[in-house]
Amino acid sequence: VNGILRIAATALITAGIFTGCQPADEAPAPVPVATEPTVSVQDALTDSPSGRVIILGFDGVEPKLVESMMEVGELPNLKRLSEQGDFRPLGTTIPAHSPVAWTSFSTSLSPRDHGVHSFFGRNAERMSMREGPGFNKRPELDDDGAVSERAVRINYNKAPSFWSIADAQGYRCKVLNVPFMTPPDDLDFGLQLCGLGVRDIRNTNSFSFSLSDRYTEQEKYSGGMKIPLPIETGVATAHIPGHPRLSKEPGKFVSKFHSLIVHIEVDRTERTLTLEHPNKTITLAEGEWSEWLPTTFNVTDNWDVGTISRFFAAEAGEHVTLYMTCFQIDPYDPYTWFTHPQEYSAELADRYGLYKNIGWAFDTGALEADALPDDAFLADVHETMAWRERLALEEIDKGDFDVLVSAWTGTDRVGHMYWRDRDSNHPGYERSRFDQYGRAVEDTYIKMDGIIGNVMDRLEDDDLLMIVSDHGMGPFREGFNVMRWLVQNGYAVMKQEQQQGQPKKRQMPLAQLDWSKTRAYFIGINSIYINVQGRERDGIVPAREAVALAREIRGKLINLQHGENGQRIFTDIFLRESFADTDDLLAPDLFLGYAGHFQTFKGGGKGEEMRQRQNMLMPTQTKWSGDHAGSAPEDVPGILFSNRPVIVDNPDLRDIGATTLSYLGGLVPETFEGKALVQNDR
Ligand SMILES: [Zn+2]
Repeated sequence: VNGILRIAATALITAGIFTGCQPADEAPAPVPVATEPTVSVQDALTDSPSGRVIILGFDGVEPKLVESMMEVGELPNLKRLSEQGDFRPLGTTIPAHSPVAWTSFSTSLSPRDHGVHSFFGRNAERMSMREGPGFNKRPELDDDGAVSERAVRINYNKAPSFWSIADAQGYRCKVLNVPFMTPPDDLDFGLQLCGLGVRDIRNTNSFSFSLSDRYTEQEKYSGGMKIPLPIETGVATAHIPGHPRLSKEPGKFVSKFHSLIVHIEVDRTERTLTLEHPNKTITLAEGEWSEWLPTTFNVTDNWDVGTISRFFAAEAGEHVTLYMTCFQIDPYDPYTWFTHPQEYSAELADRYGLYKNIGWAFDTGALEADALPDDAFLADVHETMAWRERLALEEIDKGDFDVLVSAWTGTDRVGHMYWRDRDSNHPGYERSRFDQYGRAVEDTYIKMDGIIGNVMDRLEDDDLLMIVSDHGMGPFREGFNVMRWLVQNGYAVMKQEQQQGQPKKRQMPLAQLDWSKTRAYFIGINSIYINVQGRERDGIVPAREAVALAREIRGKLINLQHGENGQRIFTDIFLRESFADTDDLLAPDLFLGYAGHFQTFKGGGKGEEMRQRQNMLMPTQTKWSGDHAGSAPEDVPGILFSNRPVIVDNPDLRDIGATTLSYLGGLVPETFEGKALVQNDR
């Protein structure tokens, strides 16, 4: 059966089924043998002598830090792996953004061919920023208010994942938490749990809540909201806005919300908060996380939205501060499907209880806004890493697979938020924090090493193990104000009223530009767009002049130096021709590739870029103090460890899928840009 399966798959591939651009969310082409009972296929493959492929992905792990930690014996399992097999830097994508890099990992293709270019893109009709990797469609409702189609992720990735190709060849794949591969693939023989890209029921990446008697007015922060909590005689009632209400017009949502109402009683002597939640009454000591609690919003007579969230008691003394996570998906009745098979989400809840499933798994926004304390954030990181470890180990122990891919993102988020605590040259470094947080990043690497050791204990002789990160990480000490530079150099022009006096507070930089005079503009992390006639809403640059203008901007920026010490600000700046086709509307015209500790100055979407008129470079004052996304990709490679020697030079992310299929003895589609990294000598 095994042989027949693979021959059938060969026919499909040579017939060109996989040579086109098949959206990842489409069902794989039917394989003739799939009509046989699944169990016979599994029996056949279990008898096969083939080794398995296990890939563990850790977001944003920096090779130089890994190397120095291995030298002093802090990562014994990775050290052992490098001696047994190999350790190399792993080439990343242009740009080194996670959605772009993980999509190249998953499809064995460059961004030019899979179509995901950035964390942030632009809406050329509205001249505003939008999400780069895709978007989420709200649920569709019948006339009677029942859901006819659940919310769904529309992913801009055009290419099939390597595991869906392996699945079509009869291999059983388990895919756990791989970032941005959402929605799940419709695998015949495998399973998938989606990670980044899964949103909350408010259709955000993560929108959390901080309730406190310290707040006098409601205020949003990036990724959440502060809500005043007036306390009278030790008691308060919180109204936490959950799912949007429907307007009278069927299918339309309005900007009001169904609220979760929680009564809170504070015991200042015991320093506890007792929460009367509709589901359950619980008491939390100060500094304690709650279990996950389900909430249901009755949106229509025929539609109840199930959701889960959990609380952290930040303060339960003189002041009361309570944090609540975003409203995540109830795995027993998912708002959007985030597993394959669909019932796998409930099976996981049966196994482990209700569980975190938001894609942006760590609330960096709340940490940045002082809505979540450091210790709570880090405890959540370690707990989440442990949950994913338990899942991966149990799925390995079950033994019913040929390929297992599991990913962790805690390494990246802690790198972003705690780099300043390990970098005494960082403007945000505080000596007093060092003992507690100076090794927060290293601690996640040690945790990673432990996970790897537990997986290594489970390997069989013929198994291939690869450890990868999608890119590295470095210090973000100074931010370059790209928008200001474009204005000062006459490429972008501010509206008349903005030029005189201070621009309005909180106005997005793009809203402050005069499009009739602006020739180039900046968006997101490191993207510059030309305001092209016929492409942009109010484009003024003729299409035939766009490339010359991009070259001119590149030429001026590339030689910029730091005023004080002559350090270069950019390692490289990439013209569109090096990462996308001319007619690709999702790609920018230039990607900046910062050098050293430089990144784009972050105005936080509040127009701060425009108010800062003096200095082009600003010291980083945010907790977000490590970065990689705007760096030149050659400066921030990821890591590759393998339990077998790597036989090619300059391995990169696109090679992992090709290596997997080749090691299994399967067919590597001709469209793959990646190459096999290890010898298959079995
Ligand atoms: Zn990152």
